[in-house]
Amino acid sequence: MKIRLGSGFKIRPPFHTDNTPIHHVDLEEGVLGKANKNGTILVSDKITDPEERQSVIDHEKVHIDQIKRGDLDYDDDFVYWKGKKYSRDDMQEGAENLPWEAEAYSKTDPFEKY
Ligand SMILES: [Zn+2]
Repeated sequence: MKIRLGSGFKIRPPFHTDNTPIHHVDLEEGVLGKANKNGTILVSDKITDPEERQSVIDHEKVHIDQIKRGDLDYDDDFVYWKGKKYSRDDMQEGAENLPWEAEAYSKTDPFEKY
């Protein structure tokens, strides 16, 4: 996906301090970010644009929130969303029509996909 230039990094007041650990790692081709159930976020080390990196982090943070509040869960074969089970074999991961993705995209900056 291509990220529209946005507002960039913001300094947050201390009461909004966010301790989500972010790791920059070598992710599989086409994967820009991942939200882990342990509350950490993985970001592809292939991303060089800081605006794009921040956008990926913002997106994955929505998934972390979904996991924490109990709406989203997953294992190797399935994604669970509000009690429904979605086979990972049948889905295009990251597709905007998936309910957890629709929320993540609606809460983050607009972007273009390619
Ligand atoms: Zn997503």
